Amino acid sequence: MKTVQAYRFALDLTPAQERALLGHAGAARKAYNWALARVKAVMDQRAAERTYGIADELLTPSLSWSLPALRRVWNTAKPEVAPWWAGYSKEAYNTGLDSLARALKNWSDSRTGKRAGRKAGFPRFKGKHRTTPSVRFTTGTIRVEPDRKHVVLPRLGRLKLHESARKLARRLDAGTARIMSATVRRAGGRWHVAFCVEVDRAARTPARPDSVVGVDVGIKALAVLSTGEIVANPRHLNAAQRQLRALGRSLSRKVGPDRRTGRDASKRWQRASKRLSRAHARVANLRRDGLHKLTTRLAREHGTIVVEDLNVTGMLANRRLARHIADAGFAEIRRQLAYKTSWNGGRLLTAGRWYPSSKTCSGCGAVKTKLALSEREYECQTCGLTLDRDLNAARNLAALAAEITTAGSGPVAGRGADHKTRHGGPVAVKRQPGTASAGQTGTVPPQGGTTQRVLTKAH
Ligand SMILES: [Zn+2]
Repeated sequence: MKTVQAYRFALDLTPAQERALLGHAGAARKAYNWALARVKAVMDQRAAERTYGIADELLTPSLSWSLPALRRVWNTAKPEVAPWWAGYSKEAYNTGLDSLARALKNWSDSRTGKRAGRKAGFPRFKGKHRTTPSVRFTTGTIRVEPDRKHVVLPRLGRLKLHESARKLARRLDAGTARIMSATVRRAGGRWHVAFCVEVDRAARTPARPDSVVGVDVGIKALAVLSTGEIVANPRHLNAAQRQLRALGRSLSRKVGPDRRTGRDASKRWQRASKRLSRAHARVANLRRDGLHKLTTRLAREHGTIVVEDLNVTGMLANRRLARHIADAGFAEIRRQLAYKTSWNGGRLLTAGRWYPSSKTCSGCGAVKTKLALSEREYECQTCGLTLDRDLNAARNLAALAAEITTAGSGPVAGRGADHKTRHGGPVAVKRQPGTASAGQTGTVPPQGGTTQRVLTKAH
């Protein structure tokens, strides 16, 4: 199985190497900003000409937004725009132009409705202090040195790694991996190199192919499994978050930069700001580590994993929940499980967005109308079952998978959990008033594909 994945390593750079990288990142920004200005100028010119009533074919020719076209325009202009251009790799300019081409495409696709999700705005200019320095190499010598402690990149030469690249090197030596590109960027005060690698993976099967596990991504814990296991947050995460808040407060008390008055940041502010960004990086690292360990373990062990489909964008708008949800990384867990189950020969099922996994009783199938987020215990009024709220949800998710499997039409049946899928049949009838069993009055009629199951169980 061929997959594309990233291998990311921290770098230990010399000051000269760091300067060279910042130079490359600056060159990328220069190409981006120049080309964006060019695109804007042409667009404005055409708009103005249209208002004079000039025929479409006589307008200033439009500028193509494709990467090759942008590169051609840049290459003819660079001796004038950036006389220093030869000092940096051509890949630097390519990095900037490529990100502009993508941004323009996203914007136009979003406008015409070709792109789903949140509206993408028109690209903005990149400021020196607001941009993450980054440069991507796609051609030339990119390799890991035999000592596995150094990498070689075009123009930059030999860079020391902070950690061993043995995992990647082993694959390269065995011929099961091919490096497609390398991106160097700075995050949280530390430089990293990320190799985009095409990997030939051996087919695998999960340790327990028939096992089904429901995963409820928790707020207090990292996750609750239908097996009853509570996966706690990574150690030190809470402490790191406390430190993060303290550093944020400390920064706010110092004299920061002010654009309006042109005031520069104080040395203390700069130091505090550096400390804060390192703390941010540490929290992110701890969280990512915890998520990876969890998802790897689940994907290696279970044949089927069921998760909820949460409207993360909608939930992030809720300020109080926002931090928790961002922390727990709902979307990230789902993303990791999706590719890790495919690597391990398992499958990932997603319950429909409207499936009431928290409100349904995992014992008898009764559905509650309301369940406040503060209610940590699920108490069923119909059968009297009392258990942890998240465990109840996880069990419902697991049961959903069993249902799909017995309904039995392979992976397509997975879509049975999707709210878009309509099920026919006599059971999927909307419940009439008065027909509800005791204690069930006013329950929400479950929607979509899950209707069948919940209704059958409720009667
Ligand atoms: Zn019940």
